Amino acid sequence: MKAAVFTEIGRPLAIEDMRDPAPGEDEVVVAIGRCGICGSDLHMTEDPVFGIRPGAVLGHEFSGEVVAKGSAVESLRIGDRVSVSPLRGCGRCDTCRAGHPAWCPNGKLGGGGYAQFALAADRQCVRLPEFVTLEDGSLVEPMSVALHGVAMSRLGSGAKVLVVGAGPIGLGTVYWARQFGAHRIAVTDLVNYQEERALVMGASAFITVAPDVIEKVNTALGGAPDFVFECVGRPGVLAQCIEHVRIRGTVVVLGLCTAPDTFIPFRAVSKEVRIQMSAFFDFPEFCRVVDTLESGDMTPHALITGTVSLADMPGAFEALRKRTTQCKVLVDPRG
Ligand SMILES: [Zn+2]
Ligand SMILES: [Zn+2]
Repeated sequence: MKAAVFTEIGRPLAIEDMRDPAPGEDEVVVAIGRCGICGSDLHMTEDPVFGIRPGAVLGHEFSGEVVAKGSAVESLRIGDRVSVSPLRGCGRCDTCRAGHPAWCPNGKLGGGGYAQFALAADRQCVRLPEFVTLEDGSLVEPMSVALHGVAMSRLGSGAKVLVVGAGPIGLGTVYWARQFGAHRIAVTDLVNYQEERALVMGASAFITVAPDVIEKVNTALGGAPDFVFECVGRPGVLAQCIEHVRIRGTVVVLGLCTAPDTFIPFRAVSKEVRIQMSAFFDFPEFCRVVDTLESGDMTPHALITGTVSLADMPGAFEALRKRTTQCKVLVDPRG
């Protein structure tokens, strides 16, 4: 099979021939239908802190069709269309059984989506309902990350919400904040490229960052936000979120900032700000996203701004490192 392979930090992914995967006992082989290009994959190929080894195939937002399965797999059949969670827990420990494979002591983060085929354990796969497309199936993972962030916030009805950063996670957060009952939702970003998409996902206002951003957000929300979601992951943004949030409000950090960051604790202490970190998602949340897709309530395909072939994928991946008008770009390895 062909795959887009990581070679070293600072070099584009390379399309290489690899051996076709063969399933272990509890595994399936998935013929990738779509795989989303994720900002965290960009991070992982830029920063040695993630420890990605040469020869690795990234890509953790994918859907596809089961084409082979191991002898112990009973829950899936050949031909099933599935969305695959990258969180591969052992499936047996208490943490896994409670639905939190992200925190399994023997768990690992799967990838492999930037290829024609990928291996996954049966317990990572959720069957897609008939009318859910493979495109939407590849968005289950980022929509689950956003759902988890909103669930961690303990946001309730009537809340004023600010989402900082209008990438796919920020816009997914807008959707779920609305579902959880947010009254007004403002989105800020450095550029207004995603304004239309933010409104489609449920935002009430889109504000381009400028020196008067706090005033503009407060006007749009009718007061300072109760909840601020940090969906950027760059130094300085958390401090900005602390400035935005109301007294005794909550800041949820979803952005992956791998550089040292500073904020003045007094600014947070003097308002009794609650700062909540959020990573990954629970397996029931992943299933909830699939159910919501089936209900037709969610239109995450509004996030998709392009689809590229595997051959064109390394170029598209490099282009996403710079500021771009793209939102979510998918890879179609069959194209
Ligand atoms: Zn991702
Ligand atoms: Zn486990």
